Amino acid sequence: MENGSKNVLKPMDSEQLREYGHRMVDFIADYYKTIDKFPVLSQVQPGYLHKLLPDFAPYHPETMDQVLDDFRTKILPGVTHWQSPSFFAYYPANSSVAGFLGEMLSVGLGIIGFSWITSPAATELEMIVLDWLAKLLNLPEQFLSKGNGGGVIQGSASESILVVLIAARNKVLRSVGQNALEKLVVYSSDQTHSALQKTCQIAGIYPANFRVLETDASTNYAMRPELLQEAVSQDLEAGLIPFFLCATVGTTSSTAVDPLAELGTIANKNGIWFHVDAAYAGSACICPEYRQYIDGVETTDSFNTSPHKWLLTNFECSLLWVKDQDSLTEALSTNPEYLKNKASQANLVIDYKDWQVPLGRSFRSLKLWMVLRLYGSEALKRYIRNHIKLARYFEQLVSQDPNFEIVTPRIFSLVCFRLVPKENDEKKCNNQNRKLLDAVNSSGKLFISHTVLSGKVVLRCAIGAPLTEEKHVTEAWKVIQDEASFLLHK
Ligand SMILES: *Cc1c(COP(=O)(O)O)cnc(C)c1O
Repeated sequence: MENGSKNVLKPMDSEQLREYGHRMVDFIADYYKTIDKFPVLSQVQPGYLHKLLPDFAPYHPETMDQVLDDFRTKILPGVTHWQSPSFFAYYPANSSVAGFLGEMLSVGLGIIGFSWITSPAATELEMIVLDWLAKLLNLPEQFLSKGNGGGVIQGSASESILVVLIAARNKVLRSVGQNALEKLVVYSSDQTHSALQKTCQIAGIYPANFRVLETDASTNYAMRPELLQEAVSQDLEAGLIPFFLCATVGTTSSTAVDPLAELGTIANKNGIWFHVDAAYAGSACICPEYRQYIDGVETTDSFNTSPHKWLLTNFECSLLWVKDQDSLTEALSTNPEYLKNKASQANLVIDYKDWQVPLGRSFRSLKLWMVLRLYGSEALKRYIRNHIKLARYFEQLVSQDPNFEIVTPRIFSLVCFRLVPKENDEKKCNNQNRKLLDAVNSSGKLFISHTVLSGKVVLRCAIGAPLTEEKHVTEAWKVIQDEASFLLHK
């Protein structure tokens, strides 16, 4: 690289970018070629890297070879391989060539698109691809950008929930008075993602006003509208102000689907902002046969789904649509002198800085645009269907083994299963499932995760990594079975 401190650094030299960029692409392509050779879950101990790296940043430049060597020998062992075909934990975090190329373009341009004027194409392409996606999902017209609605790319589902809750809070406080914060009530279920609780903490919602409606196996862990109605009525009687409901399509634990239409009726009747979180399962709803799971979305105020989970768009890319963009911008817009410009002042454009928490934002729509253009919607549907087919196959394998049971019906590509209790001993059964989880994951051959439903420790096999094929599912099940029989005969 640079030699000696006399020379001025040339950090963006075209020829160096070409040379090193090519090498880096080769390096990453080789990584994908051999990705199934690594232990899926990193097997290092906490603090391992401190022992391997120096205490101070280098004074003199080092070579790309030295750095890549260190990456290979010291960093990679501490990496869990989310793109491995045998990664079945949590939910997938899809990467793809198209997404990768789009990200590369975005990084290559290095723009910050907070206002329209800072890169008109960044704002306009985002509006267009969000409209494309809204149409693929058959979302109500009001979510399209031609009216008062529209979509925006957030970094995460958590940020989506945060900004809509802030918008809803602002709207209600404007109408009932700013000092009513202590009266605002939020509704969720015990299966709602913890992002909502974090949001409430950030937004200053009183902890006593955070309603967590219980679910159980009788509704497959879906929210029960009658419990919502009861809670809302009680809160109204107590002089509180119900203002925000978060329902989920495809809960994180078990892909439960809350009944949107019934919940929406209650929310609409009571002036409650209704948000639907479909971070993972929303992607499946581009297939007509899965669209039914977001039926009722027309009753919502906002909806989010994350193509960075299951739609081949590299992290981060979480889509949020709202019907009323003014409620977002009224809560989040600022207008400092140093950002003033003609287009914004004349209200001719969207400035996405007013739809999100940070000011700065990258050209994220490029990667979604690349994915949609290079693959096309038909192939994306086939991609989703294939994962669901593989999940059905895994589910069959589990059901055929008397030592195991399916805990809650599979809807999308997540299978929730466990070792069955012997002699009705649930406690022992939980222990065995935890032991099985550890044994499977320490094998390095696959990575699954767990949850707890009605006190039962449940194993989760979430199919959806871009490289997963039937043979990986077969192999995963074989490892699980082998570890289980070892445990059971100990
Ligand atoms: C994954 C997930 C989230 C959290 O997503 P982030 O983008 O990491 O914030 C929220 N809700 C549901 C239903 C999820 O599956």
